[in-house]
Amino acid sequence: MAKEKIIIFDTTLRDGEQAPGATMNLEEKLLIAKTLEKMGVDVIEAGFPAASNGDFEAVNSIAKTIKNSVICGLARAKKSDIERTAESVKPASKPRIHTFLATSPIHMEFKLKMDEKQVLSAIGESVSLARNFVPEVDWSPEDATRSKPDFLFKCIETAIAAGANTINIPDTVGYTTPEEYFDLILAIKNNVKNIDKAVISTHCHNDLGLAVANSLAAMRAGARQIECTINGIGERAGNAALEEIVMAIKTRADFYNFETAIDATMITRISRLVSSITGFAVQYNKAIVGANAFAHESGIHQDGMLKHRATYEIMTPESVGLEKTQLRLGKLSGRAAFKDRLREVGYDLSEEVLNSAFQKFKDLADKKKEILDEDLVLLVDGSITHKKSRLHLLDLNVECGSSKEAQAYVKIKIDSDEVETTFRSKDGPVDAIFSAIKKLIPHNASLELYQVQAVTEGTDAQANVVIRLKQNNRIFSANGADTDVLVASAIAYINCLDKLRQN
Ligand SMILES: [Zn+2]
Repeated sequence: MAKEKIIIFDTTLRDGEQAPGATMNLEEKLLIAKTLEKMGVDVIEAGFPAASNGDFEAVNSIAKTIKNSVICGLARAKKSDIERTAESVKPASKPRIHTFLATSPIHMEFKLKMDEKQVLSAIGESVSLARNFVPEVDWSPEDATRSKPDFLFKCIETAIAAGANTINIPDTVGYTTPEEYFDLILAIKNNVKNIDKAVISTHCHNDLGLAVANSLAAMRAGARQIECTINGIGERAGNAALEEIVMAIKTRADFYNFETAIDATMITRISRLVSSITGFAVQYNKAIVGANAFAHESGIHQDGMLKHRATYEIMTPESVGLEKTQLRLGKLSGRAAFKDRLREVGYDLSEEVLNSAFQKFKDLADKKKEILDEDLVLLVDGSITHKKSRLHLLDLNVECGSSKEAQAYVKIKIDSDEVETTFRSKDGPVDAIFSAIKKLIPHNASLELYQVQAVTEGTDAQANVVIRLKQNNRIFSANGADTDVLVASAIAYINCLDKLRQN
């Protein structure tokens, strides 16, 4: 029997970005969108255009760039929101507007201050306005799982009658369970008269750790679109993880009669990309993309694995694009080999970015004997996303030790100006570096996170430093990589300040 297709709707750039600290700049969003397109994501929710000019620009640039995926923008049930969103997704080859209104008693009474009649008429008006602009309208009853069923059915019927072709049922607060959500989707199928004119969609949050289980249960009840994010990032405990949904459907093809269009071998690549851009480390034992997800350490398992891999392995590392790292490139590798390897990893770069990345590659190859794919990915992503950086580290010199005060000399380029200073600190070299940078680029942000990770194994590995800064209740993250952990720290701090100043 032919398998039914599940539409994968990725909201990493919208709901994922709403996670505190996950703020991304335009170049970063574009790179993620291109990678999502390449891996076969059906719908990309690119942002919330009415929220700010920056959001509008990001959605608009993605709409201009992406050809194969539907580009969706989120809008509240307000005329100005919907018009702004329509304008921003207009250049897309497949534009979509996702609009929503709360339907639960608690939201209607305290947030919207609207009664049932007012909510119904607002749904009809907002959906038909959106349909005037685009052929695809996704409508969500916010807090659906805590809404009164009969009223919810009426709302959905109204939205479909007004032209919505996807009905998304969000578990906004992550409260539902698989059995309950299954029943709700089934009840919608059985009680909404015109439901055959729309695709039912899921949007699950992971507050109880049930986001993926809930999504899969809904799929069995009749949902055909699943909203999810890479690495499950999102507000609070996050959203349903795309990689888990996709691999569950694929690995249990014997049980689920469904398929997705996702090229699962790109999962590892996009997971690392999203993690390095947002600064959200992936937990070691995270399903599918955690560092230990495919590690078999116990003797009994290893023995079995050697005799037959399938004894303990339900999916192979290769199926999610995780290959054993091998020696890839070195000091003597030329531009052609560099370009070839990048193409194999999945990049297609402009000459400008290629040149800057190749220069960085040569610099790295001077410090590090073997350049592995992980190094390459970090280096190239940095070249793409920091193309428009206005702050650059030119020089760093640090003196420190167990018996003396740390001293840091820092030289930075700010647009076309070069500035330098020295700072001494009793609190060690990192404090000396950050204080020196703060002297050159004054700001009132507080440091929320300073994290060092090794990119690969070995003492010559690059350090990837993640910095999180908080200013006026907004949190920004950025990373910096270098074989020298102090240089990586300075770069990360400067990248984060750059992001903060540009947002
Ligand atoms: Zn959400």
